[in-house]
Amino acid sequence: MTHNDLEKYVQYGVTGTPQIKADEKRIWLGEFRERVVFALTYDQIYKEEAIKVVKEKCKDERVKKIIIENNIRSEIAEKFMDISKEFQKDYKTIDMGDKKGDIALVLASDDAVEENNIILEKIPSLPQEFLNIKNKKICKKHIEFLQKEAPFFVDEFKEINFLDQFVGIKCEVCERTKKGFEK
Ligand SMILES: [Zn+2]
Repeated sequence: MTHNDLEKYVQYGVTGTPQIKADEKRIWLGEFRERVVFALTYDQIYKEEAIKVVKEKCKDERVKKIIIENNIRSEIAEKFMDISKEFQKDYKTIDMGDKKGDIALVLASDDAVEENNIILEKIPSLPQEFLNIKNKKICKKHIEFLQKEAPFFVDEFKEINFLDQFVGIKCEVCERTKKGFEK
């Protein structure tokens, strides 16, 4: 991934003094740190944008499984289960119980990958008016806006076509910014 937002990672977890493996596995949802390709925190997993970020990360061949902490709300967990099917990764949930830490999702390999950057300081964000669009269909003008302002997310949306218009589908972004979107 080349998007700027995706290049800012934070150092997390196992740095400095060596820790025993049990501690390590407690942090990374039962995995060894060396097998982790990418991870999301609890704050990050509930953001709508997390779906797209994880999809992009799943294009990485090293990723073999998606692991979700058991406390994640089921409607959110289901979205990641769908991604696991789409990208043919194993999917599992793990109950960390009272050992629950900050990590909510782990993309792991079957082998050591020694990836340095596995936690984003901040996941890329969509402009507010583009969040929770039901059918993910928006007008040409707003597709073009995304291409310019948030290109990472463009392929999550479709342009409303003639047939959509015929059945009454309207651009929700336009609806939300009734007076017309200034841009
Ligand atoms: Zn629009």
